[in-house]
Amino acid sequence: MSVVALSHVRRAYGGVRALDDVSLTAPEAQVLALLGPSGSGKSTILRVIAGLEPVDAGEIRIGDELLSAPGRTAPTEERRVGMVFQDYALFPHLTADANVAFGLDKLSRAERDATALKWLDRVGLKQRAAAYPHELSGGEQQRVALARALAPAPRAVLLDEPFSGLDAALRAELRDATLATLMETRTTTLFVTHDAEDALQIADRLAIMKAGKLLQEGAPRQAYDFPASVDAAAALGPVNVFTGRVAHGAVATPFGSVKAAHLPDGSSAQAAVRAEALALRPGEGARVLSVRPHGAHDVVRIEAGGVVWRALIPARTPLGETVAVEIQPAGAFSFSASS
Ligand code: ADP
Repeated sequence: MSVVALSHVRRAYGGVRALDDVSLTAPEAQVLALLGPSGSGKSTILRVIAGLEPVDAGEIRIGDELLSAPGRTAPTEERRVGMVFQDYALFPHLTADANVAFGLDKLSRAERDATALKWLDRVGLKQRAAAYPHELSGGEQQRVALARALAPAPRAVLLDEPFSGLDAALRAELRDATLATLMETRTTTLFVTHDAEDALQIADRLAIMKAGKLLQEGAPRQAYDFPASVDAAAALGPVNVFTGRVAHGAVATPFGSVKAAHLPDGSSAQAAVRAEALALRPGEGARVLSVRPHGAHDVVRIEAGGVVWRALIPARTPLGETVAVEIQPAGAFSFSASS
């Protein structure tokens, strides 16, 4: 079993709690995406799994093998995890095939060469086997790095922002190709990104991090449709937030009411409404401040009662100076403001 499990893991640097009681499971043969802003602890999770850092508290296991606990850190080379980190670049003085062959030291020379070529072929770079890293594009280098990580048949592979630094079109292409390779090889994967779209596109499971804490863990669709907090909702796309009091099981915002039946009447609550959950049609209720194109959508800033929200609506929808606003319940959530 190649399930990677963190149980109540803590790791601090001086006063900074990089990981604050994180429990998390990366399921066998699936992709777990770690999503969160810069500094939320995502890379630290990969580093403790790789054994590059000790844990201050808690445990890390792959299957039933204990790899990390306070005072005990199994060496990186015994963990059998593959890594594609930005700072784990290719060896510049080795060709692509020699880079991939590097971790295969238990095999004979002929087997190493054949295995390296097989993996380069899998990532579509067999014809570039003799090229040096500086002769390869950024995307090609990342594909070689993926081949190098997978060639020794690791129990899990750790990818840290592998596509950052690539332009948007190449990024999407490489993301899809990487996902195809990972699915084919059924490799347990932890994938770090700060990009919600990357995370939603590649993940079987999603772990949303903020300030060293795990905010929510679940299937991407479930996390999107049932966020556990305002921060978890905002991690997956733009949301509008309004703080008010619960009355008759709802929070009244200037744009309409949001159900809050699970919160006590009179309590302080935050309503969070996804930008795409605002439907606009000709009418009264809110003033249109601006309309800006955003691919297949327009971003419309609307104002009511001194509050400005953003709506994401189908591109080129005709709007007047004012609009009627409807909040669609599927993208509207409420949370206790005291918690
Ligand atoms: P992310 O990958 O989400 O950007 P990191 O895991 O790199 O976040 O960092 C989490 C927190 O720990 C940040 O506040 C960062 O500054 C701090 N941190 C990480 N590594 C070190 C280190 N080696 N020394 C001191 N602080 C560190």
